[in-house]
Amino acid sequence: MDFTEEQIRSLYRDHMIPAFNFSMPIMVRASGSELWDIQGKRYLDFTMGISVCNLGHCHPRVTQAIAEQAATLMHCSNVFCNINGPRLAKELADASFGGKVFFANSGAEANEGMIKTARLWGTANGGRHEIVCFRSSFHGRTLATLAATRQPKFREGMDPEMPGFREAVFNDLDSVRAAITDQTCAILVEPVQGEGGVFPATVPFLVGLRKLCDEKNLLLLLDEVQTGMGRTGAMFAYQHYPMTPDAISLAKSMGNGIPLAAFEVRKDLADLFQPGITHGSTFGGNPLATAAGLAVMEAFREEKVLENVRKMSQYLQERLQFLHARHSVIRDIRGLGLLLGIEVGDCVADIVKECREKGLLVLTAGKGVLRLLPSLKVTSGEIDEAIAILNQALEKV
Ligand SMILES: *Cc1c(COP(=O)(O)O)cnc(C)c1O
Repeated sequence: MDFTEEQIRSLYRDHMIPAFNFSMPIMVRASGSELWDIQGKRYLDFTMGISVCNLGHCHPRVTQAIAEQAATLMHCSNVFCNINGPRLAKELADASFGGKVFFANSGAEANEGMIKTARLWGTANGGRHEIVCFRSSFHGRTLATLAATRQPKFREGMDPEMPGFREAVFNDLDSVRAAITDQTCAILVEPVQGEGGVFPATVPFLVGLRKLCDEKNLLLLLDEVQTGMGRTGAMFAYQHYPMTPDAISLAKSMGNGIPLAAFEVRKDLADLFQPGITHGSTFGGNPLATAAGLAVMEAFREEKVLENVRKMSQYLQERLQFLHARHSVIRDIRGLGLLLGIEVGDCVADIVKECREKGLLVLTAGKGVLRLLPSLKVTSGEIDEAIAILNQALEKV
């Protein structure tokens, strides 16, 4: 190691904008569900880079695909075509609702693309531009996605807020009806509010949103940045519900660690875009990122990933119920697939810290919620290890 931990920390403190907490462990290496920090300490990872490295850290299929692509053609810009993007677009469309795809680099960007699509469509359909969003949602950190993110703390000091977004209450159809005006063109919603506290949409809610959109001629946009790509046990979370959206956004785990995002729209909506004018991206869908995306899709076909999510989700929920019975601090356990929340209240930060000290990485969400995002290939042995650590941590708080 060329630099000591102290040197790295002092470089961080002196030269990086403190957008993140720099007292956290410095990670140096990972494999599967395991991560090691600069001190050589091993962690069992139930965060997977916030649902990014979902097939396991340094998945061999993805690592090989990007190594080969990196030695062949990393980038050529969207002025030219490459052989990976169109193939990945077809695979995503075949796995979802047969729409057309635009590739981006992050979740916020994918959502921006969806928001732009809704405005283009609203302009062409009666000159409407408003989008209904939901309290406690999370859609990203750009100015438009921040306006769609109904958590005021993230916008503090950044006024004026981008106009055109109205707020309704998640899982409350009446509040949506009340938020719709003659200016409304779309509804933007997460199938499971992830950052907001792990709240799954109810079936009547999502089906009701679809009906409302059909009645009032609105687009239904689903932010599947966290829930998409198998996290919930279906390839896309909306597939648990008897409805189809008009557009979805994807990011986080699309490249298993390589920045890759996308939004997919109903085929007819794609005609709103004019080449070279309406939308664009320098990096979006470059051959390196889409090589990773193709390797991820191949893993879903070859490695029974969704089957494992469904099996391990059931097992993990059973084990969490065992903790629920033993620890009164647990108020609720909820989620979908391997996106699970444990509501514990104010002691959440202490539990996260205690788990980390004992070698288990977990996240928080919303207010007082522990969020578990294990690898989609997690084993029952790894779940047992995590439960044992959680049990000890819960005993201490
Ligand atoms: C993480 C997340 C985003 C933002 O993704 P970035 O890649 O950080 O821009 C947007 N929506 C949801 C639902 C997310 O979980």
